[in-house]
Formats: sequence, C-alpha cells, structure tokens
Amino acid sequence: MPSIKAIVTNAPDGGVSVKTINTDISSYKVLISPIYTGVCGTDRGIVSSSLKFAYNPEGSDYLVLGHESICEVVDSKVPEFKAGDLVVPVVRRPGDCVNCKIGRQDNCSDGKKHEAGITGMHGFMQEIFTEDPEFLVKVEDKTLKEVGVLTEPLKNVLKAFEVFETVSKRAVFHGEDSTVLDKNVVVIGTGCEAFLYTMMARELGFRSMMINRHPLSHKIEKIFDDLGLRFVNYAEDPDEPFSSGIDLLIDTSGDPTTVFNFLRKVNYNGVVILFGTNGRAPDGSFTGADIDYVVERNITIAGSVDAAKKHYLQAIEYLTKWHCSYGEKLENVITAKFPPENTAIFTSKQKDELKSVIEWK
Ligand SMILES: [Zn+2]
Repeated sequence: MPSIKAIVTNAPDGGVSVKTINTDISSYKVLISPIYTGVCGTDRGIVSSSLKFAYNPEGSDYLVLGHESICEVVDSKVPEFKAGDLVVPVVRRPGDCVNCKIGRQDNCSDGKKHEAGITGMHGFMQEIFTEDPEFLVKVEDKTLKEVGVLTEPLKNVLKAFEVFETVSKRAVFHGEDSTVLDKNVVVIGTGCEAFLYTMMARELGFRSMMINRHPLSHKIEKIFDDLGLRFVNYAEDPDEPFSSGIDLLIDTSGDPTTVFNFLRKVNYNGVVILFGTNGRAPDGSFTGADIDYVVERNITIAGSVDAAKKHYLQAIEYLTKWHCSYGEKLENVITAKFPPENTAIFTSKQKDELKSVIEWK
C-alpha cells in the first residue's frame, strides 16, 4: 500500500493539514492524479467548521479535501481512457433515490448522495487515487491543463441556466426579435462563480453585469475588463444596475439583505436563482409587500445546487471555446498557484483572488 500526500480535514470539526495516508490502489479501473485542484468557499467553510453538513467517510477519522480539479490519467484498464488523458472527476456520487438512479444526483431527493471532499467521500487533494470511469469526464483539448480546473465551478452555472430555462418557459421570456439581447442579468458577487455566471449570461446573449458593494482591486478589474465583462459597485452607484429592471437575478453571495434588495427590481415573469450560501450572513427581512411584489409579477425564486455529468461536458465545451477566444486573458482567472504544503490558503482568502489553485506536479 503506497504512502501518499493528501490535504485533510476532520469534518465537521474543521482544521486542515497535509497528511501522509496509506491508499489502496491494488485494484482499479482508472488510476488518476491531480494536476491542479481549486480552492473555494466550500473548502474554506469546511476547514473553518462553518459547514456543519460536511462529514468524514464512514470509518475514517479524516476527510481528504478537494472537489474542483483537473487530473491526469496515470493508468487505465478500460478502453475509454488512456495514460496521459486529461480528466475531471464528478463530485457528486449517487445514492439510491430515483433522481440518483438516472444520473441526476444533483437533484437527489433524499439527501443520501455523497460529495467528494465534502460529504462522506474523500476528495481529490491527494497525490493519486482510483476512479470509476462512469464518474470521469474527458478533456480532449490538452491546452486546458490549467483552465480545465474551472470545469467544476462552471458546471454549476450550466445547471442553473437549465433551471432558468425550465421555469422561464411558462411565459414568453425573449424579446420581440426572438433574442434575449434586451434582457438584463444581474449577478450578485464578484468571485469565481459570479465571474463564470456572467461569462455564460453574456455567451447566451443577455445584457449582463456583476455587482458588489465595494470597488474591485485593480488586478481583478483588469481581468474583467480584458474579458469585456461589466461590473458595478452599487454602493457608489445605487441607481444602476439596469434602470430597466432585472429579468434574471443570480445570487452568489448568500446574503439575504442584498438578495431582497435586488429582488424588488426584478421585472414581470423574472427569475431569481439562488446559488451562493452563507450560513453566517446577517438576517434580512422579507415582507408582506415583497410577497405581493413576487406574486403579482409571476416571479420565480429557485435554488440551484451542483450539476449533472452532461453539464460537466457542456462546461468543457465552453471552456474550450473561451480559451480559444481569450487565451491568456482566461488563464489570468487563475490568480495564484500554491504547493500542497501551503495550507494557509484554506484559512484566508488571498488578496486579488479569483481562483487559487494547488499545483500537484
Ligand atoms: Zn439521491
């Protein structure tokens, strides 16, 4: 049994350390090792013990962290994969409910699914691990060796747009010219997920902007500018965003006060997608007048979590396209790379961070 390096926590108590673990790789279908693993708010929430739903795998006194990754196949015993292939492992693994049985564990109906690096299953921040081919998505374009780490966060965006499409079918949503060119998307937040939501909204033809209540650092401002994305600091410019109202409001902050504030700007038949979570956010108030507003305008408020394998495939297609169009400008979204030993990145957000990653090779 080889000894390997892994980044571990003890969920839900938290903490983080680099640990040498013994791992059984004597039998496998596909053997893989990470190239980069991304660090996000969920990892930090587990480490700080604010995400109480995280738990160790059964019988283990630790949990290997990591759910965002781009990996390389070391060896394969199935024909679909070969050594050297770039792959992204799927985070959520099915339980036995009907949605899980059809590959839609993102819509698990009894909560008995598992999530790598989060709930009851070791994650991808370990030097080598075995994987079932069913849960691997291949990245054909080898130039995505770095930005491929954005596949996992981007797949969430594609699922959320699937939710949006489903609920927006109840009325005519597009404009008279058959497009959504005059429809306004406002994304609350300026982190990596907010960035990816805004890229996708623009890709789909919406007018879109990211908003936050503080200015951006020059470095982040330049990354957004280079990619042609719009940002508004609403603390400074409260009449923006969009005087013509909001047609699709996407929240990545988990802050109820901000969501309720902008909910009141949503247009008739508008959609609000709640994606971000922040159990420590201060309470906000949702009034009877707000309920009137939502009802009278046919506004849908929908939560969206995780995504299905098909959304990983779509995410890779969009990343391939965007990387082709923007090259280095997209690569700049990965704002810092750290060795596995630097566990300080789990306890504090880096200055000028859009996406921090751990470099394994
Ligand atoms: Zn399920």
